[in-house]
Amino acid sequence: MSHERQTWRIKRHHVDNDISAYKDVVRPEFERLLADLEDGVIDGIVVYDLDRLARRPRDLERVIDIYDAASKAGRRLVFRTVHDAIDLSSPDGITLARVMVAFANKASRDTSRRVAAKHRATALTGRPVSGTRPFGWDWVRAEVRLADGRVLPDVTDPGRKGNQRINEFEANVIRRAAEDLLAGVALNTIVKDLNERGVRTSRDNAWSAATLKQMLLAPRLAGYRVHRGEILVDPKTTEFVRGQWDPILDEGVWAALEDLLLAEGRVGAERRSEAHREYFLSGLLRCSECQGPLHGNARSEKHFYYACKTRGGGLKGEGGCGKISASGVAVDGVVSELLKARMRAATVEVAAESAVWPREGELEALKADLRAKFTDYSELSGDAARMALAAVQAAQEQVEELRQERSDWLKNRLRTERQVKVGPETWNELPVGARRQYARAELQAIFVLRSTRRGNRFDPNRLVPVWRDLVQEGG
Ligand SMILES: [Zn+2]
Repeated sequence: MSHERQTWRIKRHHVDNDISAYKDVVRPEFERLLADLEDGVIDGIVVYDLDRLARRPRDLERVIDIYDAASKAGRRLVFRTVHDAIDLSSPDGITLARVMVAFANKASRDTSRRVAAKHRATALTGRPVSGTRPFGWDWVRAEVRLADGRVLPDVTDPGRKGNQRINEFEANVIRRAAEDLLAGVALNTIVKDLNERGVRTSRDNAWSAATLKQMLLAPRLAGYRVHRGEILVDPKTTEFVRGQWDPILDEGVWAALEDLLLAEGRVGAERRSEAHREYFLSGLLRCSECQGPLHGNARSEKHFYYACKTRGGGLKGEGGCGKISASGVAVDGVVSELLKARMRAATVEVAAESAVWPREGELEALKADLRAKFTDYSELSGDAARMALAAVQAAQEQVEELRQERSDWLKNRLRTERQVKVGPETWNELPVGARRQYARAELQAIFVLRSTRRGNRFDPNRLVPVWRDLVQEGG
């Protein structure tokens, strides 16, 4: 037996490596190949497999047409694949090619549809996605125990149910950060604190405002499963799909946190300037002479003072009288003592408060009503549907309103709980931002009087606090 050895001169390599022969996209090199074939620049095609050339019947038909036309014009084009002897210049070869492409096409379509359907079905079960370990959970290595007692380590499969276990340390970081943010601590202050304490991200990096924000905005914290960037809704129940893992944050807390973080992005500049004010009492202290604000001025780390500024410091930016100034350390110390005394008094009141939002049942009922109205709507058409949609919208607004109320209630409760938990003993360990926030919640303003005594000791009677709950209705 002899093998006929054929030699061709390679005219050009046509490479469309990154573009699937199946997907509905224009493949520039494929187009060029056909043009070269038609124009006689090349006399044939050599491909590894037929499906590398064409997986869609219509592409194959274009190739066949060119072979056909060439043959009629007396030009014999070569066609070779590595695996199969397909001769596109013969009717049998064409039939074989068509069958092969039809199969490849169906297989591609099936795979593509299967993969998409599988991803969605997986998502609907709440099974977690694999990838980077989410901060707050550990991927547990499932072990296989054999009958004889040997333990084989299994391949880690983060997607398997129960294989994501809460990492208590990280979960506490998350809960604490959520509480702090809702209590008014700046994001940057938390970032700084985490990095100072050596807490790392799940990729073992230091935290930045962006990574912390992104982490806290992840719906998985509240147990929601996300698919293609959105919280998945189960079409059967119209409920959000729950992930197969234990949530770290309460649904309401996470929703409040999301509101806050997204709002922060909108008024970013305003918040940022606030975050940079590191003086405990800026914005609260007022000049008793002109009622303008006192500003913090640092001479050094330890020595700073609050003063009425003659330029740009007045209520309308027109400058104050410049007559009042006071030692920062002394003023901060006196006000801290006043606030600690109030904390002690508040402890008793809070202990009596109920922990469950009183209108929880009402909200649940409204949500059920909304779901029912939505089901009605999806079964109607025309005018009836338009009316049903208006009802859905109205019900939705009611739910939104109540959810907002619950979110406010939770924020308040967290604040109050925090005061109790933190307590006057740990006041000094709080970040400046948290202390300032607490002071602002309690105090409307603190007027600073002129000094009437000689000597270096600060006279606490120079401070006149105005408590919010005394000057405002309803507290
Ligand atoms: Zn003044």
